[in-house]
Amino acid sequence: MTVRVGIPKGLLFYEYESFWRVFFESLGVEVIFSPDTNKDIMKNGLKLCEEEACLPVKIFHGHVLELADKVDMLFIPRIRSLHYREYYCPMICGLPEMVKNSVSLLPSVIDDTIDYYKHRYYKGGVVRMGLKISSDQSKIKKAYCKACKGLQNKNDYQKIPTDKNEKSYTIAIIGHTYNLTDHYMNMNLIKKIKGEGFQVLTSCMVSCGKTQPYLSKVPKRIFWSCGREILGAGLYYMHQQNIDGIIYVSCFGCGVDSLIEPYLSQQLKKVRPIPYLVISLDEHTGEAGLNTRLEAFLDMIRWRRSCANHISSYGGNLYSC
Ligand code: SF4
Repeated sequence: MTVRVGIPKGLLFYEYESFWRVFFESLGVEVIFSPDTNKDIMKNGLKLCEEEACLPVKIFHGHVLELADKVDMLFIPRIRSLHYREYYCPMICGLPEMVKNSVSLLPSVIDDTIDYYKHRYYKGGVVRMGLKISSDQSKIKKAYCKACKGLQNKNDYQKIPTDKNEKSYTIAIIGHTYNLTDHYMNMNLIKKIKGEGFQVLTSCMVSCGKTQPYLSKVPKRIFWSCGREILGAGLYYMHQQNIDGIIYVSCFGCGVDSLIEPYLSQQLKKVRPIPYLVISLDEHTGEAGLNTRLEAFLDMIRWRRSCANHISSYGGNLYSC
C-alpha cells in the first residue's frame, strides 16, 4: 500500500511546497495537502495552540489536525536556517515540538532538522528525511536533485514593472509570504485591492539581487531570513517611483514584524513620504474594520494624485514625480 505523507498548508509551505511535493512523490509516496485555511481550521488551531504564538502558527496547528487521521506520516520539518548567517524565527525552529506537545494522536512525524548555518549543506537534512521513507540512498539523492530543479524554476521571479503609469495606481504589499498567500487569514486583501482597479505588487516578487543594494546600507545585519526578505522588499519598493502606496501586512504576536515594521516606516518618511498602511491580522474575522481602512487608504491615494499634487501624507515635503 502506498504511504501517505501529509503536508500542512501553512507557514513555509507557501514557499517550498513544490520542492517537498516533488521530493516525496519521487520517493513513491502519496502527498496529501490540507485544504485552504477555513473557519474550522482556524478555530481548531486557536483551540490547540499556545496562547502566546502568532496567528500563522496557530493556524498551522489547525492544518495539522485536519491531516492527522488521514495520513501515515506528517511532514513538519525543523527548519532552523536556510541561508548563511541567518536563522528562521524561534516559532519556526521549534514548530515540530510545539505541534507534538499540542496535538494528541498524531501519526509519525518527519521532523528532521535543516540547519544551513551550521552545516552549510541542505542535502544532509533532506536525505535524513528521505530515509524515513526509503533505505535506497541513491533514490533519495535523485529525488533531492529533481526537487531542487523544481525550486529553481519557481525562483524565476516575475518581472516587476517600474514605469509610472498616470492612468493606474500601483500598491506594494509587503509581509510574510504566508500572510499574503493565505486568503482566509488576510480576508482576500489582494483581491479587494485589485477589485478597486489598483495594480498589486508583493514582497514575494522581489529577488535577493534587487533587495541587496538596499539591505547593505542598513546599519545592522538582519539575521532572521523572513525579516531580511520583508525589509529588503519594503526598501526596494519605496525607492520605485511607480509605487503609489505601501501596505505592510503584519500579524498579531510576531516578534519579527514588531522590529521590522517601525524601522521601515521611519525609512519611508525619510526616503519618500507616500501613503503607508499597516494591517495587523489577528484571529477576529470581522471584515468591516479592514474594509473601512482599506477604502480610506485607496481614496487617499486617488485624491493625492488628482487633487493634491502628491502632497506628503505626513504633512511634510512635496515631492515631484
Ligand atoms: S516570523 Fe512572525 S509570523 Fe512568522 S512564525 Fe515567526 S513569529 Fe510567527
